[in-house]
Amino acid sequence: MKENKEIQSDILIIGAGLTGLMLAYLLRDTSLNINIVEARDRLGGRIHTVHSANQTPVDMGATWLGTKHQSLIQLLEELKIPVTPQYYGGAAIYEPISTSPWKLVNWSGEMEPTYRMIDGSSTLIHKLAGFLNPKKVHLSQVIKNIEVTDNGIIARSDDTIYKSKKIVSTLPPYLFSNSITLSLPLPNALKSNCDMAHTWMGESIKVCLVYKEAFWKKENSSGTIVSNVGPIPEMYDHSSVDGKRFALMGFMDGSYYSLKREERLDKIVAQLTKYYGDQVKEYLRYEETVWRKEPFTFTDYHTHILPHQNNGLAIFREPIFENKLILAGSETADQFPGYMDGAVRSARFVYHLLSQTQV
Ligand SMILES: Cc1cc2nc3c(=O)[nH]c(=O)nc-3n(C[C@H](O)[C@H](O)[C@H](O)COP(=O)(O)OP(=O)(O)OC[C@H]3O[C@@H](n4cnc5c(N)ncnc54)[C@H](O)[C@@H]3O)c2cc1C
Repeated sequence: MKENKEIQSDILIIGAGLTGLMLAYLLRDTSLNINIVEARDRLGGRIHTVHSANQTPVDMGATWLGTKHQSLIQLLEELKIPVTPQYYGGAAIYEPISTSPWKLVNWSGEMEPTYRMIDGSSTLIHKLAGFLNPKKVHLSQVIKNIEVTDNGIIARSDDTIYKSKKIVSTLPPYLFSNSITLSLPLPNALKSNCDMAHTWMGESIKVCLVYKEAFWKKENSSGTIVSNVGPIPEMYDHSSVDGKRFALMGFMDGSYYSLKREERLDKIVAQLTKYYGDQVKEYLRYEETVWRKEPFTFTDYHTHILPHQNNGLAIFREPIFENKLILAGSETADQFPGYMDGAVRSARFVYHLLSQTQV
């Protein structure tokens, strides 16, 4: 029989998304033995920039931040990661109802300014990971169960046993509660709140079309699309800052998740052809991520859960099992839960918590 590998830690962080990597970054100069386990074969979780030779990097997960996201902004400044304002143009294509034609409407000043990282949001992920010992980051390790013992806490994947003094889970609370088996039940109130906690953007479909030129920036056009008709309700210019590589990026209505990729693409092209004509069909590349089909982000809800429901509840931030298990992750943050800023705040919160307790 194959022997399972055993890895010892003071703190085991489950999940190498923004929260997990940020926490490890904050703890990097302590004497603590930290390991991070990640189910996917890549870092970043809900942050995922896809790069392709000579084309603009495309963010299939998180993209935008605003001036209110001070925790994230402070981190980007600390790591010297440049941002650029999102280009909206002066007008937007607006399609109010299916029975009326779309029109160009004045857009300037309508929106709070938003920014995106110049080379895509994964820049932040790779910068943080650069501070860590790669031998301590274990990819393709799906934690299946957690056992609380007298002297510590143990997490198990299919081939490895992770023995630790403390575990910090950075999974969205719903996913944690519904995908990892525990040897002890979660306290009732915590369990019921986790089971009603929305995973931000878990049902979303992000789509991107890469082009040779930005035809939407010509006169009487726009790359900003707001449509009540869909299937794309919102779309924006996603071109590179050097002005040489071009793309349109948007969200597709999440209810199209069960279609085939080609069927979604046909519907997207049909919608955009209404606005721009046949040049839409000349795309260089189509990218999509159906987040609902990502098992390490989303698992079906047992009941109807509203966007942001139960996000940021104080109960998520209370350590359990005699401080051996701490729940973290963007959805647990006291401000901007669900967003990148929430992930940074959550990591900072847990870092302070750990500084106050003996590990
Ligand atoms: C399409 C989309 C668009 C978004 N747009 C924005 C935006 O514009 N602005 C913004 O601020 N935010 C946005 N967000 C939200 C943002 O991405 C998240 O708030 C942030 O990335 C959460 O980071 P996290 O580390 O807390 O969680 P996650 O990124 O979900 O990290 C959790 C990690 O745990 C891993 N994991 C899961 N199960 C297991 C297991 N059993 N064992 C081991 N590892 C496991 C996952 O693979 C993942 O890497 C968007 C999200 C999506 C999906």
